[in-house]
Amino acid sequence: MSKADAQTGTAGPLGRPPGKGSRRGRSGGRGRQSQPSARAAVLDLLGAGPYRRDLLIEYLHRLQDRHGHLAAAHLAALAELMRLPLAEVYEVASFYHAFDVVKETDTAPPEVTVRVCDSLVCAMMGAAPLARALSETYGATVRVTHGACMGRCEAAPVASVGRRYIGHADVATVGALIDGNATPAAATDDVAAAVDLPAYRADGGYTLLQQCLDGGRTADAVIAALEESGLRGLGGAGFPTGRKWRFVRAEAGPRLMAVNADESEPGTFKDRHYLERDPHRFLEGMLIGAWAVEAEAVYIYLRTEYPHLHDLLGKALDELRAAGLCRVPVELRRGAGAYICGEESAMLESLEGKRGLPRHKPPFPSQVGLFGRPTLINNVETLYWVRDLLQRGGDWFSGAGRRGCHGLRSFSVSGRVREPGVKLAPAGISVRELIEEYCGGMAEGHAFKGYLPGGASGGILPASMADLPLDFGTLEEHGALIGSAAVIVLSDRDNTADAALNLMRFFADESCGQCTPCRVGTEKAVDLMQAESWDRPLLGELSRCMMDASICGLGQAAPNGLESVLRHFPDDIAKRRPG
Ligand code: SF4
Repeated sequence: MSKADAQTGTAGPLGRPPGKGSRRGRSGGRGRQSQPSARAAVLDLLGAGPYRRDLLIEYLHRLQDRHGHLAAAHLAALAELMRLPLAEVYEVASFYHAFDVVKETDTAPPEVTVRVCDSLVCAMMGAAPLARALSETYGATVRVTHGACMGRCEAAPVASVGRRYIGHADVATVGALIDGNATPAAATDDVAAAVDLPAYRADGGYTLLQQCLDGGRTADAVIAALEESGLRGLGGAGFPTGRKWRFVRAEAGPRLMAVNADESEPGTFKDRHYLERDPHRFLEGMLIGAWAVEAEAVYIYLRTEYPHLHDLLGKALDELRAAGLCRVPVELRRGAGAYICGEESAMLESLEGKRGLPRHKPPFPSQVGLFGRPTLINNVETLYWVRDLLQRGGDWFSGAGRRGCHGLRSFSVSGRVREPGVKLAPAGISVRELIEEYCGGMAEGHAFKGYLPGGASGGILPASMADLPLDFGTLEEHGALIGSAAVIVLSDRDNTADAALNLMRFFADESCGQCTPCRVGTEKAVDLMQAESWDRPLLGELSRCMMDASICGLGQAAPNGLESVLRHFPDDIAKRRPG
């Protein structure tokens, strides 16, 4: 890690310093033979094998967990043991933010690394001064660097110390974690309130799954009920869930299932919210989905930033197996800090142990998915509602809604509101109603200025559009979209041009690099947006190119924030803060 990385404090008010290493600029390493001591260390940790190619990322995690970084010697030994070219191991290791690849010529990083999230909400809440103060206080012995969104935006600013995450972070609370004196209440990793298996079963949990497994319900009937309920994919795409299950079931077996638990859209934290509180409701939905499409195995791809949920889900799955309720193999995998792996085909690549490069479609994952097999991919929250929809009837869900919209949406609300958090509200609610009825109004001293209805990708809308219905398909004509319903509220103290720059830096850092419009376009846009005055025609041309010619949604949506500023907030461009 370079010295520049320790200087997060030089970032502008809403961003990180320019020129930081993006995921495609960090590959390195030249060919080398493995050293006997390194080979012995890897064997000691991972065992004698056989090694699975698709578990490469998990092996890298385990090396990083033990040593705090990935040493060149260990990567060479791992490549040799897996019979992979060293370059292949390096390209995977260097793709993911979670891994610290230390080349032969580098010194190992300090034992403790503090990351301060610099995504939009944390930047608004003081991430840059916090990082600066931490660097000044602890920089001699501790590595202080930036981190991408940590999925705890309701508690911004957020920081991590190793694998511990802390919300409403300040120098004192982060310092207590560094010194090892933190009380459990100081960190945001508490799952003590989660409904456990006995409590879930006492409330009728797993009765539905049991009926499915025992022949009391047919897959066709379950799928038809889901179709009637109107449940749509709640990871952001909004594809009808029942129809997706039907498509996968119609494909020739063997079939697989993959759960996208990698919510990483800045501003989104609803999946974490539900998993922390009621993991079995999700697991029951998942097992019903696997049963309905007759999946031969299930893979859960969980954000690496949620280590407490890895433990929680691992334990819950063990209990389910012991109870005879989990009759399909389930693998719980860790992501490795790549936003792009929230894109379904990139997630599949990552599950196969590769870099998260989105695939060209068609074929769609329902036809050719994980390991080339038809694969059902669902988001955590989508599966979370399956039990309730099937037991309470689709009307319970689809009957909710305002302004002609149907269903319930879990809004992750953050930013300048009095009570941020996950708000289960009717589809079609307006942001004004969301703020007033669900969030206790605006934060003290802040006047409503605008909002991001769908996280970093969903554009920025002005206060004059506070009465638009929030749902799939209602915002596109205004240059915005709801996506995963991550609503970030801005006030008169926020500059939307600074916000758009923060978002563009995020996309530049997270671009997988596979296609030129996105790889080059996001970096060029950052350069242009950092200039003293914006070249609006050129920025407009650049964003059109990115929207039209990028392979996947990341590049296509990356200019949404920029476009919103040009369209709705032109006065903010001249009022940007330096940096
Ligand atoms: Fe990768 Fe960006 Fe192209 Fe998507 S649009 S494939 S993230 S380079």
